[in-house]
Amino acid sequence: MNNLNNLLHAASFAAQKHAGQKRKGERGEPYINHPLEVANLVANIGGVHDIEVLMAAVLHDTIEDCGVTRDEISLLFGDTVAAYVVELTDDKSLPKPEQKRLQIEHAPHLSPGAKVIKLADKISNIGEVTSNPPADWSIERRREYVKWGVAVVAGLRGVNEHLEAHFDSLVARALSLLPED
Ligand code: ZN
Repeated sequence: MNNLNNLLHAASFAAQKHAGQKRKGERGEPYINHPLEVANLVANIGGVHDIEVLMAAVLHDTIEDCGVTRDEISLLFGDTVAAYVVELTDDKSLPKPEQKRLQIEHAPHLSPGAKVIKLADKISNIGEVTSNPPADWSIERRREYVKWGVAVVAGLRGVNEHLEAHFDSLVARALSLLPED
């Protein structure tokens, strides 16, 4: 199979695994919009054409949110892609605040491919919290989320200047739209 076939296979697999899941935003978009946005950011803002990174971007939440295993991804898409997805998976047995703290701590130690995907992931999520937040989130909670994203991205810097610039302008916009009271 060529690269495009592999990428479409990964996208179709992710769509099936995320079927029925919705994003947290008020509009309740299908969850698959998120990994597709992340892969699109990596490719078309980041200028990354490494097929394994793009496949991992599409698959990045399937272990964490869909109960897919590393072995399943290895078998279908190869060990490199599976390793990226594992790097991007939080340990859901830990309390949420600890998971969030560990993202900050682990960010500088990720592989370059995983760093690029994580940067695009934060762009996608902060974009959502800015323009289509969950119905019950206060301005304060949304600001805190953006600031946590900034702290994670601090550990990813130096990996892709285009995505970093995109992130910085998004954060500036987010904070201006979410004033402190
Ligand atoms: Zn994600």
